[in-house]
Amino acid sequence: TVVSLALSGCNTPDNLYLDPAQPIEARVDNLMKQMTLQEKVAQMCQYVGLKHMQTAERDLLITEMEKSHAQGFYKNLHSTDVARMTEEGLIGSFLHVTDLEEANHLQSLAQKSRLKIPLIIGIDAVHGNGLCSGTTIYPTPIGQAATFEPALIEQASRETALEMRATGAHWAFTPNVEVARDPRWGRTGETFGEDPHLVGVMGAATVRGLQGNDFSNPENVIACPKHFIGGSQSINGINGAPCDVSERTIREIFLPPFKACLDANAYTFMMAHNEVNGIPSHSNKYLMTDLLRDEWKFDGYIVSDWMDIERLHDYHRVTESYANAFVLSVQSGMDMHMHGPDFMEALLEAVKDGRLTEKRIDQSVRRILTAKFKLGLFENPYFDEAKSKDLLFNKAHQQTALEIAHKSIVLLKNDGILPLDASKYKKIFVTGPNADTHVILGDWAVPQPEGNVVTVLKGLKDAAPNTTFSFLDFGWNIRTMDPAKVKQAAGMARQADLAIVVVGENSMREHWSEKTCGENTDRSDINLPGLQQELVETIQNTGVPTIVILVNGRPLGVEWIADHVAALIEAWEPGSFGGQAIADILYGKVNPSAKMPVTVPRNVGQIQSVYNHKLTSNWFPYAIGKNGPLFHFGYGLSYTTYQYTNLRLSKSEISTDETLTASIDITNTGQMDGDEIVQLYIGDDFSSVTRPLKELKGFKRISLKKGEQKTVTFDITPHMLSFYDMDMNFKVEKGTFKIMVGSSSRDEDLNTIELRVK
Ligand code: BGC
Repeated sequence: TVVSLALSGCNTPDNLYLDPAQPIEARVDNLMKQMTLQEKVAQMCQYVGLKHMQTAERDLLITEMEKSHAQGFYKNLHSTDVARMTEEGLIGSFLHVTDLEEANHLQSLAQKSRLKIPLIIGIDAVHGNGLCSGTTIYPTPIGQAATFEPALIEQASRETALEMRATGAHWAFTPNVEVARDPRWGRTGETFGEDPHLVGVMGAATVRGLQGNDFSNPENVIACPKHFIGGSQSINGINGAPCDVSERTIREIFLPPFKACLDANAYTFMMAHNEVNGIPSHSNKYLMTDLLRDEWKFDGYIVSDWMDIERLHDYHRVTESYANAFVLSVQSGMDMHMHGPDFMEALLEAVKDGRLTEKRIDQSVRRILTAKFKLGLFENPYFDEAKSKDLLFNKAHQQTALEIAHKSIVLLKNDGILPLDASKYKKIFVTGPNADTHVILGDWAVPQPEGNVVTVLKGLKDAAPNTTFSFLDFGWNIRTMDPAKVKQAAGMARQADLAIVVVGENSMREHWSEKTCGENTDRSDINLPGLQQELVETIQNTGVPTIVILVNGRPLGVEWIADHVAALIEAWEPGSFGGQAIADILYGKVNPSAKMPVTVPRNVGQIQSVYNHKLTSNWFPYAIGKNGPLFHFGYGLSYTTYQYTNLRLSKSEISTDETLTASIDITNTGQMDGDEIVQLYIGDDFSSVTRPLKELKGFKRISLKKGEQKTVTFDITPHMLSFYDMDMNFKVEKGTFKIMVGSSSRDEDLNTIELRVK
């Protein structure tokens, strides 16, 4: 009906914007001409979904930290007001609408408004559309990064887009492309790890998967790289704390992944909670306008993070009122406000008294409306319920989730016990707080229907039907583990041939005040929390062979465990089929292939010992305590062995603008087929400013049958040899470079050859 109405009204200029045959720019122009200033500002206003508000009203959404100032905000705002404002065309967007019924209902409210402008609905679909029930949950981004297989992540993102459309959403608040260099920060697992190149490649793959070419296909949604910038290097690892970094570090480390996402056509960006060098991101004109708009030519829109414009007033204290905070943020380049009242009024007032021009408002509105037209929302704002069922948690998506889990689980230690011989280990004792819970789903996921999740215990039982499993349940709450049960566990372990202990962290937001990891859950150490260390030690000390599985979102300092247990596996938060994937690896059905996307420090004091450090970072060893990380970036074991030979360059000498290739032969010299992740690092021997010893510049995952040999070739471009010189010019300097190829960032795992640039 919308289409026929549009066609019949084709000649009426007022209806031109409803005609899908018109170019989008003309439709936007036509619509904007008819909008009042208030209707325009409304497009910049986003609110949280009604159901969410009703359940939240008002304690759930407000963390302790926010309570004091947030109460003022919720006081005058009810879900009924929000519904009325939608009908009046005074809201342009929603977030956290977690089912299709509500999404369609909200759209129907918007259709009652004067101009019938559809809503754009956003959600944190970070690894699957996990805030909705009955969806496919993929491994969290840190695990995705460990696959080193961007095509697979692109596929998962394509599927996520479908599962979002199926719940009425059009805009994913992902990828988080912050470069994580401090594991105290609870959001580490939400990122693709510590390396700018890997983060950028994975972030861009996510954007491409979600958006397709330009999200004008009903199967695509909009992506939102976040948080711009520096949240991953905050003081003491505290989420939202100040980030004080040099322009060099910003340009070398933090910006490249965002640029990679922009090059993949990301249409929105979300700003960061924190200040950067004294200026809060949400009022940072340099970041929003000078850099994103002027330097990078970004033409999409910028959204605020939750309550962060308000924080300009009450946390950062750069304005004396909330109203001034709203105005300052828009003056600095903000396009959309995430949740809360008073934004609209402040902007209207500012246009009236000249602090903001209507032209500035028009810029934001044009960007937002363009997205709505491209998404096809004016033609059909609703999604069909019947179609929805086939898309959610369908077989193909389940398969992708399992494959990513297989390829994301890192084998960190194996004394030879793995793969398990089912005929040898007939009685297995399983325990640990993460052994039989939905915690394997990770942050940004709600617990899913029981039948949709394979916990570790279930995965093991399915994989070894003739084995007797005994199980001691600790419950999911790591913080309240029962000491009596630790003793009981030792007794039960003694009765078994093997113990499998599943420990780690809990980042599920369902467990907001008990979780140990995830958003706003930072830590002052990186040990196993609760009684988990004691549990592992007690079991290991029984003498029964012990395997430890880590389910966690951040690197953990598990040195004692790595030194003592028979095998150690880093499973990250492996998603819906995590338990199945872990069992497949334990029993050798799948050969582990993942590599670490972060360095694991031995302890909290070693934080910042990232692999891409400078030579002087290790000037002197610590006087007391071991040096060097527990596990290196890029490290991960397999059940087979690979030999790297014959590293060669197509040219050993080039000029500064030349490209060359590096090739190496890799042979599977072990007894099992497998995948290997071949890594290329480059280091500049002498340079006018100091440079990291090595930086990841390329990687390839290859499959090799037992005995098979393949040649892997990397292009080496001038861009890969360049850096910011003293005057911040990005360029290649003459001299010698080390080209390193191998199986991890560890020196002993790398083959090196020299390249001369003349
Ligand atoms: C987070 C964002 C997220 C937003 C909406 C904020 O607290 O920092 O990453 O997109 O909430 O859920």
